[in-house]
Amino acid sequence: MTVRIVGTAREWATLRRPGARVAFVPTMGALHEGHGALVRAARAHGDMVVASIFVNPTQFGPTEDLARYPRDLEGDRAKLAAWGCDVLFHPTAEAMYRQGLEAFRIHPPAGLGDFWCGLARPGHLAGVCTVVAKLLGMVRPDVALFGQKDFQQWRIVEALVDDLCLGTRIVRCPTIREPDGVAMSSRNTYLSPTDRIRARALSGALAAVLGCWRSGERDILALEAAGKQAWIRLQGKDPELGDLAYLEVRHQDLTRPALLTAPGVAAMAAQIGPARLIDNVLLEDHSPDLPLLELA
Ligand code: AMP
Repeated sequence: MTVRIVGTAREWATLRRPGARVAFVPTMGALHEGHGALVRAARAHGDMVVASIFVNPTQFGPTEDLARYPRDLEGDRAKLAAWGCDVLFHPTAEAMYRQGLEAFRIHPPAGLGDFWCGLARPGHLAGVCTVVAKLLGMVRPDVALFGQKDFQQWRIVEALVDDLCLGTRIVRCPTIREPDGVAMSSRNTYLSPTDRIRARALSGALAAVLGCWRSGERDILALEAAGKQAWIRLQGKDPELGDLAYLEVRHQDLTRPALLTAPGVAAMAAQIGPARLIDNVLLEDHSPDLPLLELA
């Protein structure tokens, strides 16, 4: 199966089969099995599957990794073909931002965007909202699929589509992990072999939070303390392991009560060598186990 590549909404319109249900997977490329799971799931939701690859400049801060973000268009195209994607939407920055980078920007409300990646990366979530709104306007999909790996992003996109009446159904897919628990991420390619082992500390800390939740704890400060203590224990074994950027527990609607009274989510970020990595775990029944690994 070959994947047709288009760069504009007009080109995509020539390929769209009338009456076909379109399922859409937006990405920044450097594709891995996490993206693969989204594309395969998309097949079940649509008659045509469209993926996009666009390294969106407005979601990177001035000191972040926009220039060195991994890019592999031909490799990605082959993977998309194997996963059953029909069309790759690969616009230029000029096609996406026809009025320049200083034009309209959509900001998430404080209750969804003033913490976690919104606090640590000023402007990042507004860049995400803006590009997602543009992509949905260009591709006009029936369904769009997002990964739980970026839980805050998924939650905000769902609210954005609802609030702006964009008419696309948003589907969330589970996080795909390596066998040792590390969440797949395009940024894992930045990691040296030692940093790659160190990256296990994220899922290790989240495993501690999940274990604490499973033992019946619902106080969010106590749940967070379980994860932070696990991190400090791992730092004791590996002094090169840096500090956490954040580790926080919230309800899945992103409110932060003192006690969880509904399913929760524990989310975290940390700098591992050259890569800023994020991860999260759902605090709910049937949440899959995370390996309780100690660093080598
Ligand atoms: P990205 O290319 O990193 O912007 O991600 C594109 C989409 O893939 C987003 O919806 C991500 O949440 C999702 N994604 C990234 N990594 C994973 C993963 N390990 N498992 C599941 N989905 C993922």
